[in-house]
Amino acid sequence: MSILENTVSRRGFCLCCIAATYLAASRFSLGPRSAYAAARNIVDKIRDAAANTSITIHKLRRNVSILEGSGGNIAVLTGQDGKVFIDAGITASRPRILEAVNSLSKDPIRHLINTHWHFDHADGNQWLTSEGAAILAHENTQKHLLTAQRVEDWDFNFPASPLPAIPSDVFSSERALKLNGDTLALKHYDPAHTDGDISVTFGEADILHTGDTYWNGIYPFIDYSTGGNIQGMIKATEANLAVTTDSSIVIPGHGNPVSNRAELQAYYDMLVAIHENVSKLKQQGRSLDEIVVARPTADYDAKWGQFVITPAFFTKLVYEGV
Ligand SMILES: [Zn+2]
Repeated sequence: MSILENTVSRRGFCLCCIAATYLAASRFSLGPRSAYAAARNIVDKIRDAAANTSITIHKLRRNVSILEGSGGNIAVLTGQDGKVFIDAGITASRPRILEAVNSLSKDPIRHLINTHWHFDHADGNQWLTSEGAAILAHENTQKHLLTAQRVEDWDFNFPASPLPAIPSDVFSSERALKLNGDTLALKHYDPAHTDGDISVTFGEADILHTGDTYWNGIYPFIDYSTGGNIQGMIKATEANLAVTTDSSIVIPGHGNPVSNRAELQAYYDMLVAIHENVSKLKQQGRSLDEIVVARPTADYDAKWGQFVITPAFFTKLVYEGV
């Protein structure tokens, strides 16, 4: 299946994107039952693929690095207080993630922060707990992991997570941590990609992890089933721009993992323009199919539409929220 092969061979991607793309491609040709079966098959394939994907380390500033190759981009902070993970990736990557972080330092793993509940960011929660990590997240992330979830735009049902994978510490608005000589500021966004998204800022290192509110160079997925919406994505990006400068390093949830404010600004401009184009067409009373044919994303497709969230599928995601 070429979609899957392409996706797996590209960097920093997994379930969110693949399921969305596959279903976008098959949306009008498969009934719900067979689409569900196809998506479930993709989950298994992604787990298998992660088992064979190597992990790339990007050393940033101070003691912060990115691990690329197991779902969403993972940040790791090393030091005497133990390693701190931002997101957990996919379970099948465990041996390669351990090998990668052991090459950074010998500190034990002590902390895991989930940016949101999605599989490609929280699937590894259980093994990281068994290594000694305590999991911290927004209260809505805990809520979603505790019970079965349906993601309508993937036509997919996720079971509840086992108890060791559930965040043991939660917050509702903000949390500050002092770990390994860096000040970590965790901040909840208003509903954007989901209703449990948080940003993580490494103060001294001047690094921002945006979770899936930011996809670098590619159209993002928006999960309306667990509270996401396009206006929230735009507002979250305004918040990301407000806390960064030209010297900040920005870590996106997906896409090229080492980003910056200029690329974030380009992402913002794209979101605002496409939201405006789709809004105008919807206000004229046009149907989703008519709007897709009108190509409201046309000016942006060459850059942003070359990957798993296709122009038509992104148009649908924006349409749902205007
Ligand atoms: Zn996500």
